[in-house]
Amino acid sequence: CHDELVRLRGNIRVFCRVRPVGQEAGSSGSRSIVTFNPDDDALLHLANKGKLMTFELDKVFPPQTTQEEVFQEVQSLITSCIDGYNVCIFAYGQTGAGKTYTMEGVADNPGINQRALQLLFAEVSEKAPDWEFRITVSMVEIYNETLRNLLGDNPSERLEIKMCPDGSGQLYVPGLTEISVQSVEDINRVFNLGYVNRATACTNLNEHSSRSHALLIVTVAGVNTTTGHRTSGKLNLVDLAGSERISRSGAEGCRLREAQCINKSLAALGDVIHALRSRQPHVPFRNSRLTYLLQDSLSGDSKTLMMVQVSPLDSNMSESVCSLKFAQRVRSV
Ligand code: ADP
Ligand code: MG
Repeated sequence: CHDELVRLRGNIRVFCRVRPVGQEAGSSGSRSIVTFNPDDDALLHLANKGKLMTFELDKVFPPQTTQEEVFQEVQSLITSCIDGYNVCIFAYGQTGAGKTYTMEGVADNPGINQRALQLLFAEVSEKAPDWEFRITVSMVEIYNETLRNLLGDNPSERLEIKMCPDGSGQLYVPGLTEISVQSVEDINRVFNLGYVNRATACTNLNEHSSRSHALLIVTVAGVNTTTGHRTSGKLNLVDLAGSERISRSGAEGCRLREAQCINKSLAALGDVIHALRSRQPHVPFRNSRLTYLLQDSLSGDSKTLMMVQVSPLDSNMSESVCSLKFAQRVRSV
């Protein structure tokens, strides 16, 4: 039965992480409406004003879950790119729900991005001298359906997605900067460069980052030193734009365009993952830059994790319900 489920659902998992209640609760009178089932870590309940809603996911992380504990659950997914798998991890949810905390983390408590690279360094060094690996990283921002090369010399230059001319159906991004990394110092240097480039040409980085997708793309290429056998895997770590609905009446001009682009790309991502998970013959990769760019990493025998981030507060209830409905739709087969 378990094998049958794996076959049916493929390699797509949907997890939910609930952010802890912070200082905002005391000041605004907001309280937590989320409860957890001690016997079943796949269920999450929202209880508000006498109404109870239950959502089923593949796993739920309650607010006290540490960065280490979250990482433990995604480790095997990450190391599979050493064996040549393509992997995508997405953080989805409204602004403030903890997407960046999960992916980037904070200075003294890094998230998945840094931990993933450190784990890859450790794993590939154990495979020496039989295998030699090269690990490179790229950073891309997608804002209003345009791609920016965050590690390039000219971060305002726009990138295009092209089909390889060799007929393989593979996609590539001409001009995308890839930097080889070998140590934590290398990673920090690269992350800083990406951060500085992301901040240039925008007045408020916080606002801007909540309206754009940030991708850390890690390529792991190996060669067996005796047989010459080659492997190549890719790990895509994606901090998505905020999923909050922006009222149509209030938004105009720039804001309206941003909102439309975000809605379009998040809906496209949901459609693609749903189509893959339910094994539909047609997968609409071309409906957004995000899904088009990640086409190779989402299809075939790739592995995908959607981490739906949720705020526990009653004041965020309607957005939490929207995020959890997105999760349910993606999971439904
Ligand atoms: P988002 O990227 O979804 O907008 P953030 O990751 O910036 O949200 O989180 C909002 C705030 O809550 C930040 O100050 C962040 O450090 C904090 N935060 C989020 N998740 C956690 C967590 N699990 N533990 C502690 N603080 C968190
Ligand atoms: Mg963020």
